[in-house]
Amino acid sequence: MTKQSRTSLENKCKWCDKTFMSERTLSAHMCVKKRRWADKDLTHTRLAYRVFQKFYELNTTASKPKTQEDFVRSQYYEGFVKFGRSCVTNEYLNPEQFAEWLIKEGKKLADWSKDKLYDDYLLHYVKKEPGMKALERTIIYLDNWSKENNIGWTEYFKEVSTPRAIHDLRSAKVSPWVLYLCDTGDDLLTRLNDEQVVMIQHIIDATFWMKLFAQNKEEVAEVKKACELAGI
Ligand SMILES: [Zn+2]
Repeated sequence: MTKQSRTSLENKCKWCDKTFMSERTLSAHMCVKKRRWADKDLTHTRLAYRVFQKFYELNTTASKPKTQEDFVRSQYYEGFVKFGRSCVTNEYLNPEQFAEWLIKEGKKLADWSKDKLYDDYLLHYVKKEPGMKALERTIIYLDNWSKENNIGWTEYFKEVSTPRAIHDLRSAKVSPWVLYLCDTGDDLLTRLNDEQVVMIQHIIDATFWMKLFAQNKEEVAEVKKACELAGI
């Protein structure tokens, strides 16, 4: 190999195949895929990569997991990253589980960032979540609310503003498991007006929850007891 051809080979961008006169100009060079590689450790990009892998795992029989490089070179890169960004920005619950649901439901990647799909998933998730898990998750959220507002977390249902409560219930930050089974949940329900109730009706659907509670008496007792001990 001549000196010149070796130089050009060494100074070639592995992402776009352009060659450069020196190592310095190569390292200063930036192209779409090199930028993608540089972004690989961002929170939403990491999530996008895991979902990309999951997508191939569930849709193909290939036994080898997709690599980071496959991801950077994929024509679907932007679609997955857009999804990752919307999960992080909107603080979606369990983004990876949401993605799995989207994949299994056969939803088009281009639609994954639409609010409507997340709302559908959320409803499905909230209705299937075990009571004690829902309680644990809700308490963690109430603790955050408490720090933000400087009010004890056990005061949530009595003190939270109704618009905030609507938001929290719609985004399932507060589970109906807790709203219905703790002692103070009614304090909130009685403060809501008709319009507000309509906004959360699909989530707090009384017919559904009362039936579920009737079928899961032990779990209900466990959640009730935990709420009582916690003082909510
Ligand atoms: Zn390049």
